[in-house]
Amino acid sequence: MSASRINLENSGTNPGRELDAVVVGAGFSGLYMLHRLRDVLGLEVRVYEAGDGVGGTWYWNRYPGARCDSESFYYSYSFSEELEQEWEWTSKYPAQPEILRYLEHVADRFDLGRDIQFCTRVTDAAFNETNDRWEITTDTGERISAQFFISAVGCLSAANVPEFEGLDRFEGSWYHTGAWPHDGVDFTDKRVGLVGTGSTGIQAAPVIAEEARHLTVFQRTPNFSTPARNGPLTPARSKEIKQNYREIRRLTRQTDGGFPYHPSERSALDFSREERNAIYEELWEEGGFKFMWGSFHDVLRDKGQTTPPLTSSAGRSGKP
Ligand SMILES: Cc1cc2nc3c(=O)[nH]c(=O)nc-3n(C[C@H](O)[C@H](O)[C@H](O)COP(=O)(O)OP(=O)(O)OC[C@H]3O[C@@H](n4cnc5c(N)ncnc54)[C@H](O)[C@@H]3O)c2cc1C
Repeated sequence: MSASRINLENSGTNPGRELDAVVVGAGFSGLYMLHRLRDVLGLEVRVYEAGDGVGGTWYWNRYPGARCDSESFYYSYSFSEELEQEWEWTSKYPAQPEILRYLEHVADRFDLGRDIQFCTRVTDAAFNETNDRWEITTDTGERISAQFFISAVGCLSAANVPEFEGLDRFEGSWYHTGAWPHDGVDFTDKRVGLVGTGSTGIQAAPVIAEEARHLTVFQRTPNFSTPARNGPLTPARSKEIKQNYREIRRLTRQTDGGFPYHPSERSALDFSREERNAIYEELWEEGGFKFMWGSFHDVLRDKGQTTPPLTSSAGRSGKP
């Protein structure tokens, strides 16, 4: 799909359905766009979604161990104070089914479903300069004319299946984590090979290993990964978060990557090895992204003389 292509072929022909805005994708972004454009700006909007339900990333990625790696209290919508107060997250890093339930709840609560067309893939969008409107085509043959065209297809919705030689002759079953079967996969008594040790491979390996007879993990490039220290959100912690949401959201809007932490202003090179290790140790125990953001401002960009290089496995979040 090319959103910027100018295609005059269609001009002058029947433009099909007329809308103010077309949004592609019903994940976190598309759902919010629909709410914002329809309920706040009063536009006539339709969302087109290839899958048969809302959720985007959280609809497709149903692999064992899938969960977010930003904490739930800031990996959530900020546009409705009522929603913030009503919804109860069960853990620091909820698993995929819980995040999907959250997005389904948002769709129901804000009555979004009536303007989402599922099982429909947008195949073409061209800007017609003669009437200043987008002409959009779907794989069901529908044609729509809209003033605004918004792509909310995310950065991970096209699965990258590597061209492994012989894959077409492989007689076992194979799966891609980004398009996991909705009924799950039974690995009992199976010999399983897992390719990749990024965020997803790290999440899936221990869960598959518990079930499978044998798991072999194929690793091209080792990643550094910090422990998440996942655990239940206690009622006291949940209450504290709910009371502080305005400040949390203010911080996420002000910091690089949208984390609600005061970024560290210290340089790792101003501390002795012992002092540095004590700081790292404390954050390691706490877990999560704070190891990067709360330790030293130069931890990701200056190898220094004595500090080992550090990278994060959280690349898929689109965060630095
Ligand atoms: C396991 C996992 C954990 C993650 N954890 C985090 C995290 O902790 N923090 C973080 O910030 N990010 C995380 N991410 C990144 C995550 O993708 C984003 O946070 C977010 O969910 C993206 O939402 P989106 O609405 O922009 O796109 P998506 O959720 O990808 O939704 C795009 C939708 O567009 C649809 N679509 C695509 N093309 C078309 C088309 N042509 N026609 C119709 N529909 C189409 C797709 O079917 C999909 O439903 C994680 C990703 C994964 C896979």
